Amino acid sequence: MTTDCEINIDGLTKRFGDNTVLNDIDLCLKPGERVAIIGPSGTGKSTLLRCLNYLDRPDAGTISIGDLSVDAASANRKQILALRRRTGFVFQNYGLFANKTARQNITEGPIVVRGLSRDQAGQKADEVLAQIGLADKADSYPTALSGGQQQRVGIGRAMAMEADLLLFDEPTSALDPEWVGEVLDLIREVADGRQTMLIVTHEMQFAREIADRVIFMDGGRIVEQGPPAQIFDAPQDERTRSFLRRVS
Ligand code: ADP
Ligand code: MG
Repeated sequence: MTTDCEINIDGLTKRFGDNTVLNDIDLCLKPGERVAIIGPSGTGKSTLLRCLNYLDRPDAGTISIGDLSVDAASANRKQILALRRRTGFVFQNYGLFANKTARQNITEGPIVVRGLSRDQAGQKADEVLAQIGLADKADSYPTALSGGQQQRVGIGRAMAMEADLLLFDEPTSALDPEWVGEVLDLIREVADGRQTMLIVTHEMQFAREIADRVIFMDGGRIVEQGPPAQIFDAPQDERTRSFLRRVS
């Protein structure tokens, strides 16, 4: 393991039946590094993020965040909870609790996963609601919010976790076009704070702009990675070139 990795993923493998969806993924993220993952659909991008906080259980490999190291084969509940405490997840379809207000959606994780008191979590939620520009919607339920507002709550909920690593799974792909801009703006703000993040996105221009590094995945493997200019302007692998031709 390289010592300057804040996050180190080693040999991560995930199978669904006989379908090997992640095939021996190695990845090192430096503190504050912002990494975009691109690639065709069905290639394992979501599964990679989901394995990182055990929404899907990996079959093999090790995930290390700071001084916490979790081995897939032997992970226990306590380690999985510790991993979740250090990661925040932003879902494609927002993943909000329909029966909770915006504020309650944001306090839930800090109370349940981080063990904050209701008061502490409430204070944190109010800070976050101000940051995401939704202080006036604190008591609104998801159905009363626009898609863009719901996803901003989704991001606020991850922010409230004060996680070491934020995971974004295609955070704008379920949104009507009119709401994409405000969500990308909020992610830009989070990225500007030098938050370590992995973001799966189909917004190539956005990836180019915010990422320190871009990873192209295909068939459960990392095919190619490098600075955005290299991946977008001078891709080395034919699979990367062919993908970029299709999406641009
Ligand atoms: P991507 O996010 O790159 O589109 P996914 O990680 O969602 O890809 O899926 C990768 C592969 O894993 C696909 O072939 C998909 O059908 C399969 N897969 C994902 N989740 C499951 C699951 N819960 N059960 C069985 N197969 C799954
Ligand atoms: Mg996906």
